[in-house]
Amino acid sequence: VPVVAVVGRPNVGKSTLVNRIIGRREAVVQDVPGVTRDRVSYDAVWNGRDFVVVDTGGWAPDAKGMAAQVTEQAELAIGTADAVLFVVDATVGIQDVDESVVQVLRRAGKPVVLAANKVDDLRTEGEAAALWNLGLGEPYPVSALHGRGSGDLLDAILAALPEAPPEDFDPPAGPRRVAIVGKPNVGKSSLLNRLARQQRVVVDDVAGTTVDPVDELVEVDGRTYRFIDTAGIRRRVKEASGHEYYASLRTHAAIERAEVCVVVVDAGQPMTEQDLRIMSSVEEAGRALVIAFNKWDLTDDERRRYLDREIERDLTGFGWAAKVNISARTGRHVDRLGPAIEEALGGWEQRISTGKLNAFLGRIAAAHPHPVRGGKQPRVLFGTQAHAGPPTFVLFTSGQLEDQYLRFVERRLREEFGFTGTPVHVQVRARE
Ligand code: GDP
Repeated sequence: VPVVAVVGRPNVGKSTLVNRIIGRREAVVQDVPGVTRDRVSYDAVWNGRDFVVVDTGGWAPDAKGMAAQVTEQAELAIGTADAVLFVVDATVGIQDVDESVVQVLRRAGKPVVLAANKVDDLRTEGEAAALWNLGLGEPYPVSALHGRGSGDLLDAILAALPEAPPEDFDPPAGPRRVAIVGKPNVGKSSLLNRLARQQRVVVDDVAGTTVDPVDELVEVDGRTYRFIDTAGIRRRVKEASGHEYYASLRTHAAIERAEVCVVVVDAGQPMTEQDLRIMSSVEEAGRALVIAFNKWDLTDDERRRYLDREIERDLTGFGWAAKVNISARTGRHVDRLGPAIEEALGGWEQRISTGKLNAFLGRIAAAHPHPVRGGKQPRVLFGTQAHAGPPTFVLFTSGQLEDQYLRFVERRLREEFGFTGTPVHVQVRARE
């Protein structure tokens, strides 16, 4: 799904505009200094095209001052988005801070859509036109508050996005993209360093691929992977609230760009909400998942027994993930990461033929028919795998399946076909 990052000074109305674009009131409406948010990205759809809007508005000012903050925001957005929506306040005009953002945007060469906000009436429209001289193309006058001009703006955003991918799954050319994610201090950069040391960092351009400056190509077990946003891992993220926010933005963006995510957790510490949230983001994004229990060298028998219980209790929803126990420090079992990544990608890209799938569905219908409800018995008529990456099935049914039955079918699908390391989506088309 293409990503649009919204960039601009505080109080230009970014969050209000995000609300307009997503068509609901979800984003925080004011840029309240010091407020950091969990949610930074929102699903949006316009003219049948899905995209993700990333609101970079939740930043917290720190000693560096606003100009540096906003510029950093823009750089981050550029690194992670397919297109940038740059919002300026037409009633105030261009400020120094805006100028420095423009510099960054010009250098990056990513598509930019310029929104001149707070154009509530014709009078301010002239001020919007003055923004042509920024050299970012046509300024789109909008009033985020009243909704004026948002249709044209959305058209412009869609036009700036890369072509929609074909309906069917087509693995992108070049090396598989891996995101190493996890909360701070779990050992992400240690793991990356260990991999880079034990394995080969590929310096040459792989044929036909250009590497984003924040990515690194690393050969693991003779296979080349593109590790996403390694600059974000290596640049030690400070713990100030604003940086936490950037960290979560980066995590999200890295997940979106990858095919497979390695979520690193600290095996020596109890699992936290934050660990689980990151795993959920991977699942929601439909990416393959490897959970790496790191710092295994710090665990003793007692801790491991406790960890088993924790996994059973907290990770029940992620029983399908590929898992490895490693120590980035000693190097123990780091060589199992490559096979785990391959296993997860294998499940993620797996395709089940319609014939095999329907034979399986037939067996289920015979052995475990849906319970009769109100004198009727919903039935799965047939199914097909609509997509891979992640596997997505569509079941055509007579009558609505109960959630419980649907989950049962999902479970049996996994038992039958494997799908280790990948979310599996099952959709139902019911004929009443
Ligand atoms: P990041 O914030 O996730 O990138 O974490 P770092 O890689 O910076 O690691 C945080 C701390 O944990 C550092 O002090 C590392 O030396 C330490 N660390 C990382 N991996 C291991 C490991 O496998 N075992 C032990 N004992 N310490 C580790």
